[in-house]
Amino acid sequence: MTTSDLPFNYQVVRSRRRRTASLMVDMGRVEVRVPALADAHWVERWVRSKADWIMPRLETQTRALEQNEIRIEQNGRFTVDGVACALNWGRGTQTQVHELPCHIQVTLSRRIRKDEQVATREILKRWMVERAEQALTDRCRALGSLTGLNPKQVQVKDYRRKWGQCNAKGEIILNWRLMHLLPAQREYVMIHELCHLSELNHGRRFWALVERHCPDYRQYRESLSVAYPFLMW
Ligand SMILES: [Zn+2]
Repeated sequence: MTTSDLPFNYQVVRSRRRRTASLMVDMGRVEVRVPALADAHWVERWVRSKADWIMPRLETQTRALEQNEIRIEQNGRFTVDGVACALNWGRGTQTQVHELPCHIQVTLSRRIRKDEQVATREILKRWMVERAEQALTDRCRALGSLTGLNPKQVQVKDYRRKWGQCNAKGEIILNWRLMHLLPAQREYVMIHELCHLSELNHGRRFWALVERHCPDYRQYRESLSVAYPFLMW
């Protein structure tokens, strides 16, 4: 990480194969990729010359983090179905997750010895995966029937960089973290992946198909750009 008088930090990744410099603002971080021998002062000057491009993107992503960061702490924040809930935990006889209006209360069994915060994180992940396995696979299959785009298989997995995936074998894999999103947002992701069963690319025909089954897809795609904090915990 490089610190300078710029209003942001950035990470420099050097590569022997690279001949030009490129820039990425992703998940609230700035990354600069440069040839292995690029001069450090040149890199700094180059990044500075791109500040007008970097800043608005970084600001949007930082705001997203303030809005959507999952905070596993007492009086923290845990978002379910697009609703940001207050999070708390306490001890009890049996480990369970209670879902109250705008509030998630985790009970940790007295037998749990590990750090309470670590335990709460694990319990919440398991709880979300269970919800996802039911809700996502059923809904995706139902949407498959509605659209006539039927997957061979629907699976739920853990991804840090994407919401879902469709492969050439006709299998759709959905990220359990979709359960953080509004139902309409995750339906867009499912329709997106289902449309890949017919068009395994992001060409014009692909987006036309997405639009036919999800007319407001642009709005949902845009809204996902600030949902990345849900991929980070
Ligand atoms: Zn896609």
